[in-house]
Amino acid sequence: MARHRNVRGYNYDEDFEEDDLYGQSVEDDFCISPSTAAQFIYSRRDNKAGCPEPLEEEEYGYEDTEHSNCVSQKLTEIQKAQLESCLDHMREVLGESVPEKVMVEAVLHNKFDVQQALDSVLSQDNKPNLKTKNEDPVLTGKAPKGKDRDSHTARVEPDIVPKVTKMTVSGKKQTTGFEIPGMTVEENGHNAFPPQKGLSSGDANVNVGAAEILPKPVLPSQTVQTFEEPTMAPTPVKRSGKAKQQIDVKAELEKRQGGKHLLNLVVIGHVDAGKSTLMGHLLYLLGNVNKRTMHKYEQESKKAGKASFAYAWVLDETGEERERGVTMDVGMTKFETKTKVITLMDAPGHKDFIPNMITGAAQADVAILVVDASRGEFEAGFETGGQTREHGLLVRSLGVTQLAVAVNKMDQVNWQQERFQEIVNKLGQFLKQAGFKESDVAYIPTSGLGGENLVTRSQSSELTKWYEGKCLLEQIDSFKSPQRSVDKPFRLCVSDVFKDQGSGFCVTGKIDAGYVQVGDRLLAMPPNETCTVKGIALHDEPVDWAAAGDHVSLTLTGMDIIKINVGYIFCCPKEPIKACTRFRARVLIFNIEVPITKGFPVLLHFQTVSEPATIRKLLSVLHKSTGEVTKKKPKCLTKGQNALIELQTQRPIALELYKDFKELGRFMLRYGGSTIAAGVVAEIKE
Ligand code: GDP
Repeated sequence: MARHRNVRGYNYDEDFEEDDLYGQSVEDDFCISPSTAAQFIYSRRDNKAGCPEPLEEEEYGYEDTEHSNCVSQKLTEIQKAQLESCLDHMREVLGESVPEKVMVEAVLHNKFDVQQALDSVLSQDNKPNLKTKNEDPVLTGKAPKGKDRDSHTARVEPDIVPKVTKMTVSGKKQTTGFEIPGMTVEENGHNAFPPQKGLSSGDANVNVGAAEILPKPVLPSQTVQTFEEPTMAPTPVKRSGKAKQQIDVKAELEKRQGGKHLLNLVVIGHVDAGKSTLMGHLLYLLGNVNKRTMHKYEQESKKAGKASFAYAWVLDETGEERERGVTMDVGMTKFETKTKVITLMDAPGHKDFIPNMITGAAQADVAILVVDASRGEFEAGFETGGQTREHGLLVRSLGVTQLAVAVNKMDQVNWQQERFQEIVNKLGQFLKQAGFKESDVAYIPTSGLGGENLVTRSQSSELTKWYEGKCLLEQIDSFKSPQRSVDKPFRLCVSDVFKDQGSGFCVTGKIDAGYVQVGDRLLAMPPNETCTVKGIALHDEPVDWAAAGDHVSLTLTGMDIIKINVGYIFCCPKEPIKACTRFRARVLIFNIEVPITKGFPVLLHFQTVSEPATIRKLLSVLHKSTGEVTKKKPKCLTKGQNALIELQTQRPIALELYKDFKELGRFMLRYGGSTIAAGVVAEIKE
């Protein structure tokens, strides 16, 4: 299974043969050059099929043209009104880019059916023309592919928009608390940080650290739902709990999805590496975004002066994300490959949003690491402070073992093999140290903006002369599906809570173990309250059951929504998860500068939990390979050490021993905006 791997250096798992370390840096002397941005230019070409005559340059008012005049004179008043209304609608989608005359003709030709009129306009030559800086034949070589797709997607196109769910991150949305009497934040040492939350100015490290460590406000209100589309709310399945049948989950799982395996994929990498553009374009080429929607994004992004972000907008849904041009929340959507159904999570690359990225990565089976091949940019992401390393370490520590590295923006370096190889060598060395097996890492040269080598192998000679490997989609398809712990008791860690229209409320999250059926009773921990599952939705479809590995929405009744928070665990009442405020753990210290001492305040991250905690005791230093105690009660812990420590949280959290449930027994510790350690739960105290 994907998550069965232990933190590097621990001796729990036979899988750990190598004795290299997490967090060990590769010394490199890089220089940073200014970034170069690609241009996204919409080609306003004449619409050949729909409008054979040359078009007037500026004024497209249909009354002004001779042709339209004679057309409009033939229309009845009602038809004129219909025409106006259709044109209004088309202008909303197409903006100024299509001459009015073409639109009028399309409307009349399609007998006032605005959808078909739009389709006919869009299926003609007005397709997005993505120009990168250098008019590379590699990029132009992709055009026929796009056309192939387009011709076959020119069927009836309702608005096809990938459903992007925003995964709530507990650090932001957790609002209620279980205060431990007599224990204040100050006692925990959390006031050691300036009380400010800054996202833009100054040292991001310091500011984010402060924001993370500060106690969360205890508000009466509940977590706010963050679904972008109302349709995302699962339809509750009306079914009586009594009629519940026992199912053979393993057999059902085999049958489901036409035999396709489910795979949770997270996209990680330094900010601006092109993650959103790459995945947005992939979704577009797969037909998950139709031309009309894409056109709308182009128009909107152009208006906002961010034309090059059009594809990124497919996944970056919120106004603020678009405004800032960065992904903040974890966008989730679904697509299919030949053998798999993929739940895609687009994690933010910006340092400010690492906690959000951890949430995404915690739910992933496999990852795509996107790096920017441009000179200076790869180096900026890779050196200390860049997110390439931190993300790589984080996903590995969170149990991801298979990785595809998209060496992106290859158009910026003229698809040079030497540059590709240079990046592969540097990253390869680092990823090995981070604990990835060489055979589990694949490198794919891509251009997210140009759409090159994404869903089909590139035909361009510039690439084919030295690259014969897979395209990105083929690589995703060839990831091994992890084993699901369906035999274990049910566990689901809440990533979002929201009120549905009907009775009850909904929680979303990935099922870590076991399975759930409509009508089941579940126990929520830490509140220790039970409820009934009224409905289950998987990828927005109502289903009767769901099992380990599935990202689901559960509609629950018999419990007050106010009691449930992001990070809580729903479990089987007969074999419940434990809740505690004190536990012992084996940790591996990352590349830290200041040694860790007793009383050290940290932010504990696991699954979707992000909770202030204190290192209560330093129990022993352990040998990296054997796990034997080399020193008892050390005064401090330094980089690269393995140690047994005791952690104290402010509020109860539900977790498991690593040996019982790997997914729920592994965590990260962060301090001052950096990840300082990865750990596994060894003993639960109280
Ligand atoms: P993210 O922060 O990693 O999600 O990056 P974005 O997808 O928002 O992209 C950042 C910028 O890089 C945008 O201006 C993109 O248009 C640009 N970009 C993304 N992919 C490519 C590519 O393959 N080639 C070029 N030239 N630019 C790209």
